[in-house]
Amino acid sequence: MFETVIGLEVHVQLNTKTKLFCSCATSFNHKQNINTCPTCLALPGALPVLNQDVLAKAVMLGTALDATVNRTSYFDRKSYFYPDSPTAYQITQFYTPVIQNGTLGITLEDGTEKTIRIGFAHIEADAGKSIHDGDISKVDLNRAGTPLLEIVTQPDMRSAKEAVLYLKKLHSVIRYLNIGDANMQEGSFRVDVNVSIRPKGDEKLYTRVEVKNINSFKFIEKAIEVEVRRQRDAWEDGLYEEEIFQETRLYDQEKNETRSMRGKEEAADYRYFREPDLLKAVVTDEMFEKYTKIPELPDAKHERFVKEFGLSIYNADVITANIETACFFETMMQEDGVSAKTAASLLTVELPSRLKGDVNISNSPVNAKKLGFLAKRVDDRTISGKAAKDVLDALMEDIDADVDATIEKLGLKQVTDMGAIEAICDAIIAANPEKVEQYQGGKEKLFGFFVGQTMKASKGTASPQVVNEILKAKLG
Ligand code: ADP
Ligand code: MG
Ligand code: ZN
Repeated sequence: MFETVIGLEVHVQLNTKTKLFCSCATSFNHKQNINTCPTCLALPGALPVLNQDVLAKAVMLGTALDATVNRTSYFDRKSYFYPDSPTAYQITQFYTPVIQNGTLGITLEDGTEKTIRIGFAHIEADAGKSIHDGDISKVDLNRAGTPLLEIVTQPDMRSAKEAVLYLKKLHSVIRYLNIGDANMQEGSFRVDVNVSIRPKGDEKLYTRVEVKNINSFKFIEKAIEVEVRRQRDAWEDGLYEEEIFQETRLYDQEKNETRSMRGKEEAADYRYFREPDLLKAVVTDEMFEKYTKIPELPDAKHERFVKEFGLSIYNADVITANIETACFFETMMQEDGVSAKTAASLLTVELPSRLKGDVNISNSPVNAKKLGFLAKRVDDRTISGKAAKDVLDALMEDIDADVDATIEKLGLKQVTDMGAIEAICDAIIAANPEKVEQYQGGKEKLFGFFVGQTMKASKGTASPQVVNEILKAKLG
């Protein structure tokens, strides 16, 4: 029996306005090499100066991870050559990183809680980008020197699923803190997975393989699974020593396999030393005070939604998974008399099925206030849950449409007036004497027929509960 051992390294691009050590803009939608200056081009004589906003965001993350925030941290130089890095070294934090000894809790599929230990998180500068175009390669340095936080776990995860749960949680925390957009496709949340196997019960760590360049949660899960299989096969074939060694591999999503990219460098290869051009990074009392006050995080919101609104655990999972949905829900619940159940179903089922293409929850034509009001109209029985779907369809078509006016226009106002429904029931009963006789003679299935006919005659506007009650009374 084998056990899988996984440790994760995540590079998060921070959403500061300017780069880590210079005042160039961090936006990438500009023309190539526009956001550059002597510092990020590494021209001789230009000196880096730490962007304090980066430190502030690191304090926020450290707080969220329940970690030690080192009030004094240092920068180190990691030497290596890359065509898209003009310095031929990376400024990072190796010996004394800003964040140490954190944790992040995840909830496993069976509901148990697990704590993933975070060894450290450090600030570092990103490289530029190489663009390959046929025989020609070009370098764009707009990204060179933009700030990253690298967050490194202990080898605490035991399956691909656990790794993905951790990553989703971390992703969500970054978004809740609003320290980065964490867009995986665009590379602002980059994951390296370290994978090894060992016989169950063995405490020692075996050879780890690092898999890089995977840009979706789905492919991370697959990449881990296929790499674990490769290592197990090697073990079972008696080829573990020969085939599994410490290296960096790439995941090929088309072939669903990992491929050797390069041997893994050892720390010594990088010749780390204290960065001589920079001062130490100091988190002042004032900064610490200010940036340890962080917004409510996913777990706290989850707990509060369940307690305060009576939201089901399942819905709370879905709704708090990302900050936009969570805020949308809270706004909906501000409407008087809205139940969590109705709000959740409109928000997690009906709305998403109507969002297409570039339209998402943030720019939906039906905003939170409007959807909340629609939920209220269901809960105060003005319309049925079914009618709400038609109203929502219409609201999606016209951003200016008003909820009540649309209900009126579509004629979907539910009839709760007993007298009116009774009259319809009487008419249906009078028109079907044979069926009444059969029903009263014991053919109970026919009850559905009467309900259906009444609903139909009311054009679906009668409240089903009321129809049921009245028919029961009348038919005996
Ligand atoms: P490096 O600095 O060379 O990248 P680290 O020791 O910092 O190496 O580890 C990097 C990542 O690899 C960490 O997330 C760590 O938890 C993980 N890791 C280390 N050893 C193993 C192992 N045997 N199996 C799986 N993951 C491991
Ligand atoms: Mg590493
Ligand atoms: Zn610059």
